[in-house]
Amino acid sequence: MSNDLRENLLEIVGKEHILNDSKRVEDYLEDESPEGSRVEPASDVLVVKPANAEEVSEVIRLSNEYESSVFVQGGATGLVGGSVPTKSGLVLSMERLNHLEIDRDNLTATVGAGVTLKELIETARENGLFFPLHPGDEDAQVGGLVACNAGGSRAVKTGVMRNYVRGLEVVLPPGEMLNIGGKLIKDNADADKLMNFFVGTEGIFGVITEAVLKILPSEGATATLVAPFEDKFGALDAIPEILRSGVVPQGLEYVERRTIEGATRELGVSWPAEVGEAYLLLMFSEFDETTLFAGMEKVSEILDEFGSLDPLLAELSDEESKILRIRSELYPFLKPNLYEDLDVCVPISELSDFLLEIDKISEKYDTYLHPYGHGGDGNIHIHVMKQEGWSKEDYESIVKQIYKAGVELGGTISGEHGIGESKKKFLKYSMGSDSVHTIKRLKRTFDPKNILNPGKLIDFSD
Ligand SMILES: Cc1cc2nc3c(=O)[nH]c(=O)nc-3n(C[C@H](O)[C@H](O)[C@H](O)COP(=O)(O)OP(=O)(O)OC[C@H]3O[C@@H](n4cnc5c(N)ncnc54)[C@H](O)[C@@H]3O)c2cc1C
Repeated sequence: MSNDLRENLLEIVGKEHILNDSKRVEDYLEDESPEGSRVEPASDVLVVKPANAEEVSEVIRLSNEYESSVFVQGGATGLVGGSVPTKSGLVLSMERLNHLEIDRDNLTATVGAGVTLKELIETARENGLFFPLHPGDEDAQVGGLVACNAGGSRAVKTGVMRNYVRGLEVVLPPGEMLNIGGKLIKDNADADKLMNFFVGTEGIFGVITEAVLKILPSEGATATLVAPFEDKFGALDAIPEILRSGVVPQGLEYVERRTIEGATRELGVSWPAEVGEAYLLLMFSEFDETTLFAGMEKVSEILDEFGSLDPLLAELSDEESKILRIRSELYPFLKPNLYEDLDVCVPISELSDFLLEIDKISEKYDTYLHPYGHGGDGNIHIHVMKQEGWSKEDYESIVKQIYKAGVELGGTISGEHGIGESKKKFLKYSMGSDSVHTIKRLKRTFDPKNILNPGKLIDFSD
């Protein structure tokens, strides 16, 4: 990187907001990708921390002039290497863009891209409101959530990040600032024309500096139901019927005994259900208890019809939080031996067939793939564990078979984590060459020098 560029950057953000000693830069060279998705970071990297959109714009203008790569980084909780700098250049850390303002009348939050999910949830709660989106790591930042169109366990009822974005401020190469939408519920003259272009495109077209997000009134009545089943098929086949009933749980998660047993052993707690091999965890949330219990009763009848063995109701807050804690500890339990977390998403009608295929693949490779996750939206994650003696080719072979199984059932290789760098080579399973070509054309128009997140999502140099 040229000394000139360094000097100019220093002038824009100030000395204390540039990191270049290798020890401090190290913290910005990886995300949360498990071993199989980890990408090699470049060594010649500078971390730049602008304070506001104007400084972001200046940094982008300068980088464009010097044709220096810029890797936008939020909370680095991504699982596909999207924010990892893989070429010499800058990490543009968004952490200082952390303003947050709640508008109770319009039910919106105007937030800097660097605000964490945790801060947003807490501030909404302090204002008697609720931001429901809940991907598993609350250190994720608003910019990253928008760029990845994050999902999480509550998507079944309250949707994905796209459903919350009303306005965006974006910086485009070569440094121009774009303001789209605002606090309006309906805006077919501005917001709805351009906004979605920046949601879910993983930061390859522009740097998100601010978002106006919809927030909701908070629901006071909650309860969780654990429904055990003798086998996976009863559990999975009940899902479409539950959703058809009109009662939509806030979370509808699927997990198997084998995964639960390991996690509870590790945590030193007991799982409330003594019977069953597969479970549905149904988290209900309503404004009042009458609606809550009426809905749960309706769902209990469906669970019964599909062969659930004695569903367990947790309505007291400590019972409920114990179950939810076990659910949230599944990933940390698997993580030390996890090679790859695959977030294939299939139509909910195909879940049984998908997990049947997963069983066949497990058997063929003599492994267990810990299928668990967001059953209510078809996004049950498949976990490829480290195996002694397996080569890179063995892992790649099982990953391909899992993807193919999902795609052949009308699914996609990624329901929520995105493509980043590590899943690029598999994108062809889900995205047609015409779409790839269109994205390349758009990228060449927006970022002709390919400075922004180069090497992410698609290789533009081809
Ligand atoms: C334990 C765990 C559980 C998870 N569970 C879920 C889940 O249930 N659902 C889900 O969807 N995800 C989940 N994730 C993945 C991750 O949290 C999300 O992808 C999240 O949206 C990433 O946000 P981030 O701020 O950490 O982004 P980063 O990891 O920093 O970056 C991700 C991508 O967004 C781009 N980006 C970041 N900020 C900006 C910006 N301001 N402007 C433009 N581009 C930007 C980056 O360049 C990169 O391409 C999980 C991760 C972990 C570790």
